[in-house]
Amino acid sequence: MHETPNLLVFTAHEARTAEAIFARMFPSTPDEPDVAEIGVIPYVDRALTDAYADSTEMYRQGLAALDRVAEQQYKTRFADCTPAQQDALISGLERGSLPDMDSSVQKRFFDVLLAHLQEGLFADPEYGGNRNKLGWKWLGHPGIWMENSAEENLSAEPVTKGGIIQSLADLGYSLEKPLVEPDGIPGFDPRRSVEPPTGPADVVLVGVGAMGGIVAPLLAKAGLRVVGLEAGPWRSKESFIPDELGSAYYCRANMGPKFLAEVPRWRRSDSVVNAELAVHDTPGLYVLGSAVCPSCPGINPTLTLWALCVRAADRPVARLRSGAEL
Ligand SMILES: Cc1cc2nc3c(=O)[nH]c(=O)nc-3n(C[C@H](O)[C@H](O)[C@H](O)COP(=O)(O)OP(=O)(O)OC[C@H]3O[C@@H](n4cnc5c(N)ncnc54)[C@H](O)[C@@H]3O)c2cc1C
Repeated sequence: MHETPNLLVFTAHEARTAEAIFARMFPSTPDEPDVAEIGVIPYVDRALTDAYADSTEMYRQGLAALDRVAEQQYKTRFADCTPAQQDALISGLERGSLPDMDSSVQKRFFDVLLAHLQEGLFADPEYGGNRNKLGWKWLGHPGIWMENSAEENLSAEPVTKGGIIQSLADLGYSLEKPLVEPDGIPGFDPRRSVEPPTGPADVVLVGVGAMGGIVAPLLAKAGLRVVGLEAGPWRSKESFIPDELGSAYYCRANMGPKFLAEVPRWRRSDSVVNAELAVHDTPGLYVLGSAVCPSCPGINPTLTLWALCVRAADRPVARLRSGAEL
């Protein structure tokens, strides 16, 4: 027996109608959890108070329109139609062919329902759905793990983690808890970034992201005076927890306008750098980062880039040690 949710946005009838739609989109057998047990309605209802508040009106009008068409065609409300009648109405919505309703609005409402259903079933329980991890249990998904072993990475089978299923809460994370800033870094003081330089630098890194972050300590430990100029915000461990719903937001929005507006200017089909990542015609200038990739660096290039950048960082260190110019 599942709990009746305390509704925040939906009326009781809207919740019943939406649950009837979701139940047809994710039908279950008696042995499987259904959308009510998994808690899709509490998830959507809560999201409509906040992240999806701008979809509230679409739900209101869409659910009322489905009732209207159900009354016209089957003389009863949507939630009281037979499963076959409900399927016909939902298919009409998907195709945008229900009467007296704008076709593109219908299709958009169907897409929203599908996306919210998937999130309510399978996003972390922290968001209000996937109750008792039932969605993940149904999928056989182990939930949130910070890492896989080498064997798990190479396995051709799904990684099951011995049947243990972890959520954000199991790892001690909470959406309510403010992000934890990185632990103190000796000598780090962001205010120094706006003060005049205290002396000459051997290396100036423009951008301290994945590659700059690896290369800076290598060069500094070798005795070089390194300055990093970074335009972006701090990312801490919490920014990278494998929370798929959070990541979706992170990728869509939180990367920031600067990231989303960037067009890499280095990327050319002909060669800009040599094998040490030094720019051909500009002594002392190196491209230590994904900008050396001739095409989109989106397909898990990071370990290769790290290897390239670490090798390239060895070169100025060796030159300096031998007394040569950088
Ligand atoms: C959503 C997403 C998922 C990814 N997943 C994977 C994955 O699973 N596996 C994998 O191998 N790779 C993955 N990648 C790719 C990986 O993130 C990149 O290859 C890697 O970050 C490249 O490192 P980089 O140092 O060249 O660039 P970045 O890490 O982007 O660092 C560049 C830095 O320069 C800063 N900057 C830019 N302009 C300026 C300026 N004018 N002044 C000062 N600072 C500046 C930026 O703020 C940034 O911090 C993913 C990328 C994205 C976007």
